[in-house]
Amino acid sequence: MTGAALANSLSAEFSARVLRGVSMARHTSWHAGGPADLFFAPRDVSDLAAFLRQLPADIPLLWVGLGSNLLVRDGGFRGAVVQTHGALVGLERISATRIHAEAGVPCARIARQCVKWGLGPAEFLAGIPGTLGGALAMNAGAWGGETWRHVVEVDTLDRLGTRHTRLPDEYEIGYRRVRGPENEWFIAARLEFERKPGTNTQAIRELLERRRETQPIGEWSCGSVFTNPPGQHAARLIENAGLKGFRIGDASVAEKHANFIINHGNARAADIEAVILHVQRAVEASSQVVLQPEVHIVGVPE
Ligand SMILES: Cc1cc2nc3c(=O)[nH]c(=O)nc-3n(C[C@H](O)[C@H](O)[C@H](O)COP(=O)(O)OP(=O)(O)OC[C@H]3O[C@@H](n4cnc5c(N)ncnc54)[C@H](O)[C@@H]3O)c2cc1C
Repeated sequence: MTGAALANSLSAEFSARVLRGVSMARHTSWHAGGPADLFFAPRDVSDLAAFLRQLPADIPLLWVGLGSNLLVRDGGFRGAVVQTHGALVGLERISATRIHAEAGVPCARIARQCVKWGLGPAEFLAGIPGTLGGALAMNAGAWGGETWRHVVEVDTLDRLGTRHTRLPDEYEIGYRRVRGPENEWFIAARLEFERKPGTNTQAIRELLERRRETQPIGEWSCGSVFTNPPGQHAARLIENAGLKGFRIGDASVAEKHANFIINHGNARAADIEAVILHVQRAVEASSQVVLQPEVHIVGVPE
């Protein structure tokens, strides 16, 4: 089905509001990738639930936060993309140590706000350039902190737009890996922190500074491409395989941090994916370790 035909299968209200053929290069931090047939930016959670209620069951769905861990292939995404960033933006403190945050809130905003509330340790969230929804989907972590360690409850929407509240023990949580009920997406979470009166943004500044020294921050990337194998560092394995600077088209393994792949301006998703595959093969040949991508790769090739 074409994008126009897909849009025609929606109710009149949503058919008029949904965008067609939106380039996912505009919505991913790699700035690469093809168009989404349909692209929906909800006004709030009820609007999103109403959209899902009328979305035909056979249209594939992709939720996107800030696209900082996502590679959409050059042929694009055949289905509907839902953007949470800019829509699900509620953030409040609900008790002395607990906050409620919606899925589209950037992690960095949660980190800063927790400092203002005198809560911690939330500083690790400052280094994650995604939304809370993406952090829940990935169990994002940094500097020894991890998202799900703080989760008390999550709210989800299923494919029919029905809301659920779920506890952490309903999910299988691992290192950069979360498995839960099929066809449900995060709309909010209650997170628990400790009281840290007197905490200030200095710790955040120092952590970000340390990161700038070791990672190519500011360039187009998705952060670390591969998870660290048990007891090993993916970056070191890639560096030992002599791959720093390895380049296909406009995509290359970063010189500053070998687990980053940089788009120098005009890389296609296919170039980035080819670098990923080459790195996997070369590291397997040199170290007998099969690196697993942390980034989510979706969509169809051109
Ligand atoms: C420079 C840089 C540094 C980074 N450093 C770190 C780091 O230190 N630690 C770390 O863990 N990550 C890091 N990342 C990766 C990335 O920021 C995190 O994985 C982040 O959690 C992704 O959030 P997002 O909103 O961008 O998700 P997206 O990239 O938009 O989506 C990622 C996946 O989550 C799914 N998803 C998004 N929102 C939802 C939702 N509401 N419900 C269900 N599924 C959803 C998407 O469908 C997709 O499969 C870095 C990335 C960059 C670019």
